[in-house]
Formats: sequence, structure tokens, C-alpha cells
Amino acid sequence: MRGLWRALALAGALAALAACGEPKQHNQGGGPAFSLGQSQTQPAVQRGAADVDGARLLAADSEPGNWMTYGRTYNEQRFSPLAQINDQNAGQLGLTWSYDLDTARGQEATPIVVDGVMYVSTAWSKVKALDARTGALLWAYDPKVDGSWGPKACCDVVNRGVAVWKGKVYVGTLDGRLVALDARTGNVAWQVQTTDPSKPQTITGAPRVVKGKVLIGNSGAEFNVRGYVSAYDADTGKLVWRFYTVPGNPAKPDHAASDQALRKLALKTWSGRWWTWGGGGTVWDSIVYDPEQDLLIFGTDNGDPWNKHIRSPRRTDDLFVTSIVAVKPDTGQYVWHYQLNPGDEWDYSATQQMILADLTIDGQPRKVLMQAPKNGFFYVLDRTNGKLISAQPFAPETWAKGIDPKTGRPIENPAARYSETGKTWQGSPSPHGAHSWMPMSFDPKTGLVYIPVQEVGFTYKADPAFKHSPMGTNMGLDFVTTSMPQDPKVKAQVMDSLQGHISAWDPVHQKEVWRAGLKGPWNGGIVSTAGNLIFEGNATGEFAAYRADNGTKVWSFDAQSPVMAGPVTYTVGADQYVAVLSGWGGTYALVPGILSLKSGNTRNISRILVFKLGGTAKLPPLPTSAPRVLNPPPDEATALQISHGFKLFIKYCSACHGDAAVSGGITPDLRYSQLLASDSYYDVVLGGILKDQGMVSWAPVINHDDASDIRSYLIHRAHQTQDQKAAHEPWAG
Ligand code: CA
Repeated sequence: MRGLWRALALAGALAALAACGEPKQHNQGGGPAFSLGQSQTQPAVQRGAADVDGARLLAADSEPGNWMTYGRTYNEQRFSPLAQINDQNAGQLGLTWSYDLDTARGQEATPIVVDGVMYVSTAWSKVKALDARTGALLWAYDPKVDGSWGPKACCDVVNRGVAVWKGKVYVGTLDGRLVALDARTGNVAWQVQTTDPSKPQTITGAPRVVKGKVLIGNSGAEFNVRGYVSAYDADTGKLVWRFYTVPGNPAKPDHAASDQALRKLALKTWSGRWWTWGGGGTVWDSIVYDPEQDLLIFGTDNGDPWNKHIRSPRRTDDLFVTSIVAVKPDTGQYVWHYQLNPGDEWDYSATQQMILADLTIDGQPRKVLMQAPKNGFFYVLDRTNGKLISAQPFAPETWAKGIDPKTGRPIENPAARYSETGKTWQGSPSPHGAHSWMPMSFDPKTGLVYIPVQEVGFTYKADPAFKHSPMGTNMGLDFVTTSMPQDPKVKAQVMDSLQGHISAWDPVHQKEVWRAGLKGPWNGGIVSTAGNLIFEGNATGEFAAYRADNGTKVWSFDAQSPVMAGPVTYTVGADQYVAVLSGWGGTYALVPGILSLKSGNTRNISRILVFKLGGTAKLPPLPTSAPRVLNPPPDEATALQISHGFKLFIKYCSACHGDAAVSGGITPDLRYSQLLASDSYYDVVLGGILKDQGMVSWAPVINHDDASDIRSYLIHRAHQTQDQKAAHEPWAG
């Protein structure tokens, strides 16, 4: 035990030093600060901090009290065999501790819990280690990502989790680093830059560790980048292999693990000069390992730019965008792929979580991979060879009549090809997906997959006048004519159409068994347990438990803030705990404007929440906040100035401040900004005085007159909102 005690003593000292700068923590754990109660109540195990290796991960079901990798086990089912908390006693659940985080942006991380210690990442790629029983902080790490990376991320400055391996904690940072921390102290053991920092390529996904290699991808397929996944030596940080998901310039070989697959399979499926754009196919979330077949399987994002006419103008597949790709973990050598959306132009990512399971289908035992990606079809693949077993819609979709079971290819609706027709296509699902990154769960006892499903449509239209801009997104779509109109009837119709629910899906028969309705889209990840329970937080700010077999809600907690992240469950000593992060954010809180407001709660309170049976901790009361006041200067600009400002706003500002200048809650709503009446506005927009908070200078792409026109548009929108509120219009914002 000497090593463990030494680690605890050091961690305690560090935590005491760090305490001044840390946010207030509310706990009722009752144990002595900074000691791990687990060491007194569980059999003594000679282990150091985060002493996790392949043998432990492969046998994760033999120690269900730990949650040692992103999806708990390598098959990423997110099913826990724990059953102390069950459908009979869930009503006795109560908060046992909470920990206020020091960022107020989207929280998407799944905590890792090993031997009584919780390791968790937060927005801005920070990491904390806490006593999993009491919530006492053991150490904190801040990679100090520059605020200028905020606008280079499509979907908020989020981070979905860390990985642990042999005494180290690994995190990918928004600015593209992979950092290994000493699990005892939080000190940096090594770090490497995994991206070209001159490009808007970011990391938000959780690393996985397989056979001594840390796997990490990146994001940015809305910003003209080329996707890849890399494997680094877990001990040293040395690059072992890299697999590019789309071909680069054919005249310049990569000398990477992907060379042969790109040359033989992918290159002929592209046209034009895609490499000058990047091509996309980023690996921003799902990576899964199948030890039986010794396969590493990852999902890729959309083609980049979205508009295929610009990217790769002929009707080609553009491999390996929107695909599931299997490689050998030791070398990155290609084994198989399955492409969900050949030649994608809708941002229908295949990056959503993949679950591995053994199912009996048509009387035959099958080794399957399951995914419920953005495009609305639930896919069951044979993971030994990547062949389609079945695919059926789990949500309303209008882009395909179905997936041809013989070829595995979609039978597309020709109208969906907006880059070919030149017409507007109002389609479904949207780039927010019928299901996005929020983890789903497979319960082998019920045989059901629990999916956080949403129904959000989208208007796709190619921008015939598209030009690349060195800042902002470059998708090649016309977001000006597809912006939300201010007609109250249209707005009400769109808002009514937004839906969210939990779907309990039978993957063998490809049908829904039950659903639990929610108020709107963008609800949380799901864990299922042997206690016949599933847990999910939602966009209204509720964290709830439902019976896994029939969807009856058996417990609910007011989390004060929406919950998006994936919950986990673990034990310390004799008690089972359930943990989840609260904190509204992500793309749905940034981009779609009024749509973000559907569930009625856009308050970001970023916290770790931990529950157990009989827990009696309380959250502090909500802080009182003064009502927002619209106080714009006079609306005196010309129609031409306002419409020019609108176009610029959509191009450069709306990705963070919301369509039609309606903020989703985590960035300032500019209609209400006091800066509209002050020339300090220019210091912010052109001078970059708030760059540390992510509001960089836009002087490289707009001049003073442009900035003035954007202000005129915002003032106009503020007056419009005043009028709408006076007329008691719903959804004035
Ligand atoms: Ca994307």
C-alpha cells in the first residue's frame, strides 16, 4: 500500500494548495478530506493510481465497480452489471456530492472511475481527479488552451473524456495536443502536437488505449481539414502510425498506414481538387476495439466542404467520408470499411458511438457492430467483415427510401442532392442528427439499445457564390436564405416540429419497443444497469431513471441546468454511485438560434453530480439573475446596410452567436448587448480585446464599415424582438 498512500499524501497536499483557486464544492461525504474511503472498506489491492492495463480492461466485467474506459468496456455497451440501485429502490436516490466546475461551457465528458478515484475532463480540455466517494479534489490540470481556439471549433469548446493506462491519464486538447498526465499528481508526463496548429483542427473526443497505444482523432470538417486517426506509444508519446481517412494531393504521398488503402480504394472515388479543401472525414468521436478479431474500428465525419459540387464535383463516393473503417491496432493496416453515405453532402457523420455485441439474428449467432448515426438509420453490421446485416430508420428521415440489403448502399431521394439540383431541400435529419455524440447504451438483459433520439429538420441550399474565407466555417451552403424567417407562423411551425425522446430499440428485429417522450431535442447520453434501469439527463435540466424493460420513469432530480453528458455508475466501498456532468452547450446551444430554446432551459451550470441511495446533499439555490433588458440604440440604418450586415453575421458570427442573432444560452445574445450603443463594440469585434474569452479579432476578414453594418443588423434585430415581445409573439427569444 505504500505507493498508494504516498500518492494520496501528495495529492492531498496539491489539492490543499489548489483549493484557493477552485470553485466551491458541496459535499456531504463525511469522510476525512483527501483520503480514499475505499481503502478502508474494500480488500486491499496493491495498486497505484489509474493502474489500468489491457488485462484489466479485457476483464472489466470482473470489476464492475470501476469504469475504466470511455464506454466502460472495450465493446462500449455502457451497460453496468451493478444492481444495488434498481427499479425497486431508485426512488430513494439522492445527491451525495456535487462539484462546481470552473468553466461555463458545454460539458460532454464521461467520467472515468478507477479504484475510488474519478478522472474527468471538462470544457477547455481541463482535467480533474476527485475522490469518487466524497468529491474532494485530488488534483487539477489546465492545458491553458488559448481562447482563440473557441471560434475554430464548430461545436463548442467541449471535451468528451480522458483515458487511463498504467498510471497515466490522457486527454486530447482543443488546440490539438495529446497530453499524458501522471495519475497521482496531474503533472504532465509527456505531450505531443497531433495536428498542424496553423489549421483549425481541434480535439473534443476521448482517447482510447489499446495494446499500449493511445488512439486519438480530431475535428474540423466544417473548416476545410483532412481527417485522420493517430496511434501514439502510451509510455513515450511517440507516433506509431497514422491513418488518413481521405486522400491528399495524389502527387504527394503521406508515407502513412493509410497509403495503400487510399491508393487502391479511395483515390478513384474522388474528383476535382478536393485536397486543396481538405476533404473532411474527421474522426472526432467513436473509436472501438474488438479484441476477438483484433480490430480497431472508427467512424468518420462528413466530406468537407459539405457542398459536394465544390469538394468533388462528380457523383462519386468520396471514400472514406461518413464511413466505418476497421484497421489493425498494431499497424493501422486497413481491413474493411462500410460507407453509410456515399458522397455525403448533409453532414451525416458516421462518428456516432459504435457498440459491439453478440446477437442471434435469424437463428444464427452474429458478431455485430451497431450504430445509430446522424442519418436516422439504425445499422447492424457484421464486424468481422463490415458487411451490412440490416438497417432501418429509428427516426423520421427523408433523404433515402431505405438501405439496399444486397449492396448496403442507400436508395437516395434525388431531391436531397441539393448541390446537383441547385434547389433548396428541406430535409431530415439535420446536421444535428437524429442522434449525435450523446452515448447510447445496450442492455444485454433486455436486448434493447437505448438511444437519445431527436427530430430536427434542416434547409439545405448550395451557395452559388461561395468563396473560401480564411476565418469562420466554409461549408459552401447558403445560410442566408435558409435563416429562420421572422414570420411568427413559420417560427411556431418549426418549433412545434422539434422533438426529442428516448427510444428503446430492438436491434434484432429493427423496431422500437418503447419510447419516453421529452420536451425537445439535444438530450443526454444513457447508461443502462443490471438493476433494470437506464439513466438519462435531458435538455430541460432533469436527470432521471427509467425502467429498462418498459420506460416507466421511477426517479427524477432537478439538475438546475441541462444535462448532455453520458452518465456512469461505480462503487466505492459498499455503495453504488451514479455520476453525470451537467452543463448546457455543444452545437445545438450555439448555432441554430431560436431552436436552442425549445426545452425552455439554456442555463449553464457546469457541475459533477453524484447520487447514491439515501444521499441527502442539496444543490445551492439558483443564483438570482436580473431580467435581460432590450435597450438598443435607434434603428436608423438603411435596408442595404442591414442586409449586408446580416450576410456577414451569418458568415462569421452565427456559428457562435446563433442563427438570426438568437443565442442558445452559452454565448452572449447580441441583441441584448450594451455594446450596441458604444464604440467599444469595435474594440471587441476588430480590436480583439475579448480574445481570451474566445472572441477573437475579425479584422482579417471584415473592415470598419462591415463591422458597422453587422451592428446595424443587430440593432435592427433588437428592435424586431422588442416589437415581437410587445405583440406577445411566442418564440420572440
Ligand atoms: Ca461534421
